[in-house]
Amino acid sequence: MRTMVYDLVIIGGGINGTGTARDAALRGMSVALFEREDWGAGTTGGSTRMVHGGMRYLLYDIATTRLSSEDAGRIRGIAPHVTWRIPFLWPLFPGSRFMREATEAFLSAYDPMAKRKGGLQHARLSREDALALEPGLAAEVEGALTLDEWGCDVYRLAALNALDAKEAGAELYPHTEVVDVLFSGRDLRGVRARDRITGREWDVEGRLVVNAGGPWAGRVAALAGATCALRPGKGIHVTFERRIGNYGLILEGRDGRTMFLVPHGAETIVGTTDDDYYGDPARVSLDITRDEVEYVIEAAAYALPQARQWRPIRAWAGVRNTLFEWGVGEDALSRRHEILDHEERDNVPGLISIVGGKLASYRIQAEEAVDLALKKIPRPAAACQTGTRPLPGAEAQPDFIALAREIPLPPAALERIWRRHGSRTRDIFRDAGPDDLAPICRSEAVTPAEIRYVIEVEGCRTLGDLFRHAHVGAGSCDGADCAAPAALFMSELLDWTPERTRAELDAFRDERWSERRPVLRGATIAAEEVVRG
Ligand SMILES: Cc1cc2nc3c(=O)[nH]c(=O)nc-3n(C[C@H](O)[C@H](O)[C@H](O)COP(=O)(O)OP(=O)(O)OC[C@H]3O[C@@H](n4cnc5c(N)ncnc54)[C@H](O)[C@@H]3O)c2cc1C
Repeated sequence: MRTMVYDLVIIGGGINGTGTARDAALRGMSVALFEREDWGAGTTGGSTRMVHGGMRYLLYDIATTRLSSEDAGRIRGIAPHVTWRIPFLWPLFPGSRFMREATEAFLSAYDPMAKRKGGLQHARLSREDALALEPGLAAEVEGALTLDEWGCDVYRLAALNALDAKEAGAELYPHTEVVDVLFSGRDLRGVRARDRITGREWDVEGRLVVNAGGPWAGRVAALAGATCALRPGKGIHVTFERRIGNYGLILEGRDGRTMFLVPHGAETIVGTTDDDYYGDPARVSLDITRDEVEYVIEAAAYALPQARQWRPIRAWAGVRNTLFEWGVGEDALSRRHEILDHEERDNVPGLISIVGGKLASYRIQAEEAVDLALKKIPRPAAACQTGTRPLPGAEAQPDFIALAREIPLPPAALERIWRRHGSRTRDIFRDAGPDDLAPICRSEAVTPAEIRYVIEVEGCRTLGDLFRHAHVGAGSCDGADCAAPAALFMSELLDWTPERTRAELDAFRDERWSERRPVLRGATIAAEEVVRG
């Protein structure tokens, strides 16, 4: 039997890897995509979850702000169901790093960029107007400026890119790590993959290998004797269990660092920090310190004192895959991206890497990577379609009260499910019986029908995958109510042994606990340990 030789073997299923797989498959290339965990489980999931233009980079890297604003506009257009507008207030306090005039000049420069992504121009608010919109602002507030950004369900964005790639013919291998590379002479000709669940190892041949390993890119390149110079940076976020304000807020940390308070679903995200980090990116959430959590909450409470009254339910982290620079502070590192041709750089033909960049510009980064691939392995190919072709489910939002007559679930639940799957919601519930509709997780409106869909259509293989694909355990109880029923249902569908089911539950709870632990204080740690069992 002849072994299949793919045009592209892609390592890493974050937003860059899934975006590249989608672009290449839509242009007619044969693609195999390997991800050691799940789509978006790395830096993509650890981001602030905004398709934003990078307003801050205007100060030192205007090209990146312009590029990501432009691409953000396209991403919004192809993924309206998993992105949403977030109006922000930038409250002005006496003694803040930026004076009112400087802040306004800054936003005037950002306005044309905001327009590229469909945002409104900034407006100036008096103290009274600012307090009328956000009554919880600290009493010293002198006024505010407004701006528009876009929130995003980043796990869904990555999963939808992967799904579209699959539907265009790509072969997807989640939970499969590339453990080595294969050479033919000095040419890279493929990879050795290991399924992390079954332990199976096999060789895969490709005309070109694309390293989309995010903060792991240096390690992946090293397998082939090549280099990617990164300066990885750790950023942490704190999630509050509810909306603690009416709008997004631009915050200032005690050291002047700009941070965001972002309404996200029913919750609020605050972050982020930025510190050099050379640990294992897969374990970064275990390295969150109490001081980091306090630094983030302090910034929120400075603008919105009531933040201290609300319950933080988790802290989580990501590692930036920033390009290496010497002699600059972490904050001032450029967020630009590069597509590296390792034949030219390291004399390793057959390997290219996507490094640096932002989630908000993933689509153009993927397009450039596929353009380079097509130069190296010329073949007839269709034009890039990813800027205009909608992602799966990206149809106009329906009237949810009318949809509830078609699918017997509360309109609010349907809206939540639509925000994950868009018009594929109808596929999920086609032929669904009463048992398929009984909620497994009430706070996130997860039903057996959705779990079946993400397993059968999106290829979920672990209980943890259900967190990212269907929001199982993503509510404030962290899965205390829904993890066990979801595990039992999944075990029936995938024919798991009792031991495997137990192990999946333990792994799920450990993962949730790793994010819970950093925000607990005093006696609550003991109380939660008892609940955790
Ligand atoms: C704290 C923080 C906040 C951020 N906020 C924003 C924001 O709000 N907006 C924005 O636009 N950008 C933001 N960014 C930047 C953005 O998150 C990244 O640019 C983007 O997610 C990088 O995606 P990626 O696919 O390159 O990396 P990743 O998402 O890390 O994907 C790489 C994948 O490769 C896999 N992998 C590694 N090694 C192997 C192997 N050997 N075999 C198989 N798979 C492997 C990993 O498991 C991982 O899933 C933020 C970043 C951080 C850290």
